[in-house]
Amino acid sequence: MNSESYDVIVIGGGPAGSTVATLTAKKGHRVLLLEKEKFPRYQIGESLLPATVHGIANLLGVADRLGEAGFMRKNGGTFRWGANPEPWTFSFAVSPRLAGPTSHAYQVERMKFDQILLDNARKNGVKVQELCTVTGIVETGGRVTGVRYADADGTPYEATAAYVVDASGNMSRTYKSVSPQRHYSPYFQNLALFGYYEGGKRLPAPNQGNILCAAFDEGWFWYIPLTDQLTSVGAVVRRDSADRVQGDPEAALRKLIDDCPLIKEYLADASRVTTGPYGEIRVRKDYSYCNAPFWRSGMVLIGDAACFVDPVFSSGVHLATYGALLAARSINSCLEGTVDETAAFTEFERRYRREYGVFHEFLASFYSMQADEDSYFWQAKKVTQQNASNLEAFVELVAGTSSGEEALATAHRTSEAIAAGAGALAAATYELDTRPSALHSSGVVAAAMSEGARIQSHALLGGDAGVESPLFDDGLIATDDSLGWTRP
Ligand code: FAD
Repeated sequence: MNSESYDVIVIGGGPAGSTVATLTAKKGHRVLLLEKEKFPRYQIGESLLPATVHGIANLLGVADRLGEAGFMRKNGGTFRWGANPEPWTFSFAVSPRLAGPTSHAYQVERMKFDQILLDNARKNGVKVQELCTVTGIVETGGRVTGVRYADADGTPYEATAAYVVDASGNMSRTYKSVSPQRHYSPYFQNLALFGYYEGGKRLPAPNQGNILCAAFDEGWFWYIPLTDQLTSVGAVVRRDSADRVQGDPEAALRKLIDDCPLIKEYLADASRVTTGPYGEIRVRKDYSYCNAPFWRSGMVLIGDAACFVDPVFSSGVHLATYGALLAARSINSCLEGTVDETAAFTEFERRYRREYGVFHEFLASFYSMQADEDSYFWQAKKVTQQNASNLEAFVELVAGTSSGEEALATAHRTSEAIAAGAGALAAATYELDTRPSALHSSGVVAAAMSEGARIQSHALLGGDAGVESPLFDDGLIATDDSLGWTRP
């Protein structure tokens, strides 16, 4: 059997995989990325957050490339949600003291976005091998030391590395080598049914690129404008509605659209795309879960291989690329011998879990804002929310999460650093235009936003972003280039 040796092997070429591969290759390490598909390949997850398209993209060196790619600019989100029968809008607001080139995100066709990140990994020296499927993990003396894989012809290979990163997404089972048990959320047990439409209506300017989320009796819809003509439309319903979509998903989607007046109105003059990669109506279920732990000696899980939580707030690619950044810091530090492995990966796991916990809590409070609790979907949410606190407690327990106070202090320091000379940096703060809200006053929301702002400022300013405090007692902080850990 052919055998090769690397510093890092990455399984999967989605956003998580290409990010960790690039950020370790940038430090001069020999990185192999194995991807089972030939890109471009279809993936859901089209609405991004500013922390990804500015913060992480800057570290990767692709922010300009994303800006030039012609993706739909997303200034924020518009929601028909909660007590207010009228849609309300939030924007990624520009800090009033600064020009605002980073106060937006993009709606992306993932075939194009993921290709840009994968090409960038190649450009940074990563050896990318498509049509190569990882078939097994190699262990030596209790430590993961490599992978077995097969190319398109089925020829078997073995490759060894100091670190194996599992970024193989939602469908793969490679994560079992790190954490055999995947914990599915009892709270977000939903099913998504989605397709693509040409000619759908747009929100009035300047919100024409916003994600539109519309709650209705049976769940909620996303309506994501990908281009002037193309729209991604998906319904999220209870998982036990599965039988409704089994026979004829097209008829099921049409019926759900008919039941949601706002989406019905927006699609009144639209036609469904029926050919090519967007021609299929797809179903996804069981997609909110968290593994424990996220690492063992020699191997680490990131992106959907590690965790995912309900898509209403578009956190998937953010969690995937943020987890990739944290893993890259740990791997770089260990390979350079500056931090010991347990300290480096404990920091990775704590920060990653904290971020996941923040979004989980955020989403739970967001769901509970929906006032129409007579309906089956929302009544079920209300009941299962009793469990949500248990799940959150579990997540926070295994996370050792920092308090909301600490996160808010980080936000404050970041804005000071920005005000002190950041130039063209805008913080990813949220400005809620029109509504009263539990969400508005939530420390959880502020913590989520502050983490995004911190990643952005660090990516753009490096050491000039200000001296970071550790997030945890005895914790580590990022190095000036943000690609490693150091002791405070
Ligand atoms: P992926 O993008 O899945 O990439 C994993 C890669 O690994 C794939 O290319 C796969 O081919 C490869 N692979 C798998 N197994 C192997 C193997 N054995 N060997 C080699 N390669 C392998 N996120 C958002 O940010 N915004 C949204 O609006 C959004 N909407 C969503 C809606 C729904 C219904 C769902 C279910 C998710 C949504 N997400 C959204 C989440 C988003 O899809 C994921 O979080 C994101 O794609 C995760 O990226 P990843 O790199 O971890 O995995």
